[in-house]
Amino acid sequence: MKNLSDINVIKSVMGKHGVTFNKGLGQNFLVDPEVCPSMAEAAHLDENTCVIEIGPGVGVLTAELAKRAGKVLSFEVDKRLLPVLDETLAEFDNVEIINEDIMKADLKTIIEEKCAGMEIAVCANLPYYITSSIIMLLLESRLPIKAITVMVQKEAADRLCAEVGSRDGGAVTVAVSYYAESEKLFFVPRDSFLPPPKVNSEVIRLTVREAPAVSVFDEAKFFKLAKAAFSQRRKTAENSISSGLGIKKDVVAVALEKAGLERTVRAEKLTMEDFARLTEILL
Ligand code: SAM
Repeated sequence: MKNLSDINVIKSVMGKHGVTFNKGLGQNFLVDPEVCPSMAEAAHLDENTCVIEIGPGVGVLTAELAKRAGKVLSFEVDKRLLPVLDETLAEFDNVEIINEDIMKADLKTIIEEKCAGMEIAVCANLPYYITSSIIMLLLESRLPIKAITVMVQKEAADRLCAEVGSRDGGAVTVAVSYYAESEKLFFVPRDSFLPPPKVNSEVIRLTVREAPAVSVFDEAKFFKLAKAAFSQRRKTAENSISSGLGIKKDVVAVALEKAGLERTVRAEKLTMEDFARLTEILL
C-alpha cells in the first residue's frame, strides 16, 4: 500500500489525475504519518462499527479507518478526487465513497440503508470553513451516532470543548454540551498539512449523550436564548438578552431574579441549568 502521508506520493497521485488543491474546499491534506492512526484508534472502531468520514482527500485517514472498522462511508464533495480515491483505496472492499456535499446528504436514509445493525461513529479531518455547521448538523439530526472524533481548528476546539460557565464558553459550547460530552485529545501543528494552513489544529472527541444534558421544554427557544445571551460578550446577559431577543430590560431583570441570578451576570458565567431556567421564564 502507498504511504498516503508522503508528500511525494500525494503530489504524484494528484498530478496523475490532474487534481490541484482547492483552497475554498478546505483542502489541506495530512502529511504527518502518526496523526491518522492515532485518530482512528481514538475513534474506538471495530468490525461492528460503520464509520462516517467527511472529506477523505486522497484517503490517508480513510485507509486507517478501513483497517479498523467494519465499514467506512466517506463523503467527498470534490468529484475530481474520485479517480484518485479509486486508486489509493483499491485494496479495501469496505469503503464506499459518496460524492455528495455532507450538508445536503440525506444522512438518515443513507445510514439506515448502508449501516443497518451496526454502531455508528464519525471520524474526520473536517474542512474548516464549515466545522461548526457540520458538527451541529450531526448532533441536531439525532442520528444514532455514538461519538464524533474530528480534527478542527485549534480555536474551534477551544470553543467546542470549553466548560459552559467558563471564559471560553459560547453559544456553540452550550449547543454542543446539550448533546455531547466533549474532550480535547491531541494538538496537531499547522506544518502537519500540505499545504500548511494559517492555523494549528486539535483532535477532539464528542461522545453523544443518551439524553440531553438538561431537560428543556422547547430546544429551539433554549438555543435562541443562549445565542442572544452571547451575542454581545462584553455586555451583561441582561443587556444581551434584551437586545438580542427584543425583550424589555426590566422584564429580563425580573427573569434573572426569579432564576436566582445577579442582574450583572455575564453569559459566560451561566450554567446549562441557568439557561434552561431562563428560557422557561422568558420565552
Ligand atoms: N481527510 C483528508 C486528510 O486528512 O488529509 C482531507 C481533509 S481536508 C481538511 C477536507 C476535505 O473535505 C477535502 O477533501 C474537501 O474536498 C472535503 N470537503 C470540503 N467540503 C465538503 C463538503 N461540504 N462535503 C464533503 N466533503 C467536503
